[in-house]
Amino acid sequence: MSFVAEFDKLPLQSWLKRSLSTTSAVARQSLDGSSVSLPDFAHLISPAAGELLEMLCRRSRQLTQQRFGKVIRLFAPLYLSNECINNCKYCGFSRDNPILRMTLSVGDVLREARALTDQGFRNILLVAGEHPKFVSTNYLADCVRALHAEIPSISLEVGPMETLDYRPIVEAGADGLVVYQETYDRAVYAAMHTTGPKRNFDWRLETPERAYTAGFRRLGIGALYGLGDWRLEALSVAAHADYLLRQCWKAQLTISLPRLRPSAGEFEPLTHMSDRELVQLVCAFRLMFPDVGLVLSTREPAKLRDGLIPLGITLLSAGSHTEPGGYTGAGKDKIHRTQRGRIVELGASEWASATDGEIHATGQFEIADERSPHEVADLIRRLGYEPVWKDWDAALTA
Ligand code: SF4
Repeated sequence: MSFVAEFDKLPLQSWLKRSLSTTSAVARQSLDGSSVSLPDFAHLISPAAGELLEMLCRRSRQLTQQRFGKVIRLFAPLYLSNECINNCKYCGFSRDNPILRMTLSVGDVLREARALTDQGFRNILLVAGEHPKFVSTNYLADCVRALHAEIPSISLEVGPMETLDYRPIVEAGADGLVVYQETYDRAVYAAMHTTGPKRNFDWRLETPERAYTAGFRRLGIGALYGLGDWRLEALSVAAHADYLLRQCWKAQLTISLPRLRPSAGEFEPLTHMSDRELVQLVCAFRLMFPDVGLVLSTREPAKLRDGLIPLGITLLSAGSHTEPGGYTGAGKDKIHRTQRGRIVELGASEWASATDGEIHATGQFEIADERSPHEVADLIRRLGYEPVWKDWDAALTA
């Protein structure tokens, strides 16, 4: 049975009700238990457990140090392309946004990757919009193959694919696949994804299982907070993680906790999750999943990221650019607009501004933590943790 079948049977509304009406005595019991079930998780993310935040933080910190040591792993996103055939209301790369687009050549990708390895990174996430014409299976496999000798840990965050299409990418050397469901609320999902293959909720939800079958050994999931009710999203992510830990047990699992950031479409979040609630959620995930990696990106401001480091986060991105060519300016000469899948060259006046080197492909969203990777690494050391630039090495499992 795939997670879709299990998901449709989950009593999510009743868990949400339970969460909203939990007393602090019940939340305390779930906090003190030796393991955390999904109903316990509902208690841990309750408003009542919010009153016990200090205790939650203490427990989460202890558990994280026990399981992961005082280590924070660093990674960087490398955007390959901002072409996309989907319209997602919250994303700057949406097909109908008249943004500046570009797809890096394999040589450009290598140049960008070397800029990242020069900064120390050995763990890179290749990111691209969904556009089979520009971002094909062969293209992705070629990019991975070119990087594999220099980068031990390569993951992808790209449009969902068939198992058979994932295989050449795994064979080329990629070991991780990240796919966020964005929202697990079917009605909100339908309203947010107005055109393109991403409208298929079930296909996306089954992606980690297809990726696992194809041979990926690191799987990343998450919701984008700011679309549906955050507690419902968190309960769904927890149920999804629980399922994947049972069914895809050879894989390492990570959960990301992105909150919506401003983007080219100027979409306003539909729901709010406060900083305090984000901290509570990090702790609740840690208590339920002691061995799962928790990921925080540069979407969050520096101060909040620093505060979350000892509380349960194990993977941080740093110094991120969310546009293709963002680290070196590679591929700038190819910048264009795309209409109905066709490249439309920029006008002379737009190129005129390029002469001072100021033209860039459009980024996916604005980042909030603009510190360099070395500033982030220094801060990690000052907090008494060790920054680790590499996440995984296939040689270790050979
Ligand atoms: S969220 Fe992904 S699929 Fe949707 S428009 Fe952005 S890049 Fe495309």
